[in-house]
Amino acid sequence: MSKCISVNAGSSSIKFKLFEMPEEKVICSGLVEKIGHEDAHFRIAFNEEKKDTYCPILDHTYGVELILDAFKKYGIIENFSDIEAVGHRVVQGGKYFSKSAYFDAYAEEKIAELIPLDPLHAPAHLMGFHAFKKSLPDAVTIAVFDTAFHQTMEEEDYLFPIPYEWTEKYACRRYGAHGTSHQYLSIEGKKYLGEGENRIITCHLGSGASISAIKDGKCVATSMGLTPLGGVMMGTRTGDMDPSVFDYLCTCTGLSHEEIYDAFNKKSGFLGVSGVSNDTRDVEEAANNGNQRAITAIKLWARRIADYIGSYYVRLGGCDLIIFSAGVGENSGPFRRAVLKDIEEALNLSIDYELNEKIRGEDVLISKPDSHVKVAIIPTDEELMIARDTYKALLGEL
Ligand code: ADP
Repeated sequence: MSKCISVNAGSSSIKFKLFEMPEEKVICSGLVEKIGHEDAHFRIAFNEEKKDTYCPILDHTYGVELILDAFKKYGIIENFSDIEAVGHRVVQGGKYFSKSAYFDAYAEEKIAELIPLDPLHAPAHLMGFHAFKKSLPDAVTIAVFDTAFHQTMEEEDYLFPIPYEWTEKYACRRYGAHGTSHQYLSIEGKKYLGEGENRIITCHLGSGASISAIKDGKCVATSMGLTPLGGVMMGTRTGDMDPSVFDYLCTCTGLSHEEIYDAFNKKSGFLGVSGVSNDTRDVEEAANNGNQRAITAIKLWARRIADYIGSYYVRLGGCDLIIFSAGVGENSGPFRRAVLKDIEEALNLSIDYELNEKIRGEDVLISKPDSHVKVAIIPTDEELMIARDTYKALLGEL
């Protein structure tokens, strides 16, 4: 039995889950948020209990010390060395990482080199890595990349039709994201499939959203692009658009390209179209109260997702299973129904809509036996995927 911790370090937060491996048992989980502030918050949850602390946490190093001290205080570990391995989520692995990797000098150098592709997360991942390294210098430490699972895409699926020298010189191409989740879903989804069937479309629909086409366990296409801005419409992001919209809006609004880019990332999607909220629960409530823009936002979101599912059906030469997951995909019957209604005729689906309405966060098939394509809801678990690779690294099997 080994204790492995999955870590997701952001610029002002650290989320963690401690596992007993290989049993895959969650010992505790929690987060530190508002790092850099006087009123920062630390929460640890274990044995169905939650403990909250509000105090100044001025940097990631102190945040990690708080987490590890709490492990000791609550008898979760005796010594820091009880934690044998650490797995860090890293959003962008560029072309360098097609699987998880030891967090060594090479990995550190490459993650730093990729900062221009992910200025928001990459520096935070490095801060999180150094903070854990300081307290747990002997733990086996790995990086698990959100982009790694998508590295199996063929050129036709990842190239942008821009001058080829830019693709080469600036490594400007589709990398995708949420790869750890898509991989987890494709593994879990196999239980619903028979021998030989293995064409899966995974829909990770949270406030960030992406769709992947997966054949025999390998990703062949994914909707997010160079960054998580691409693909389907999301909570605050546009997803794919005609690139000329950018130039046209700069001219019309007089805003700078940074301001427009920021609006495409933070003020668009559900928030921008509905004018209500980026949270689909609020948008749903507004739509139920007759708010026309909220109704339009839901229809637009569903149509974009349906378009991707249609194109991936063709890309895969058919499909055996469609999986809904993440915040919206796991919890919202009405949002799933909006997508399913757009695709059911073309894909010859037969859905148990009554069951669909009831399901929240459960692993279940919602298609009927006569459905041409199976449809399942599977809660994602990126932390567990990270812990699995972390344990493999501990065994020297990465
Ligand atoms: P993130 O992309 O931030 O990881 P999550 O996968 O946790 O997001 O999804 C969070 C989103 O899920 C929330 O912003 C909300 O829009 C949506 N959500 C959660 N529960 C429900 C629900 N019952 N109905 C509709 N939407 C929901």
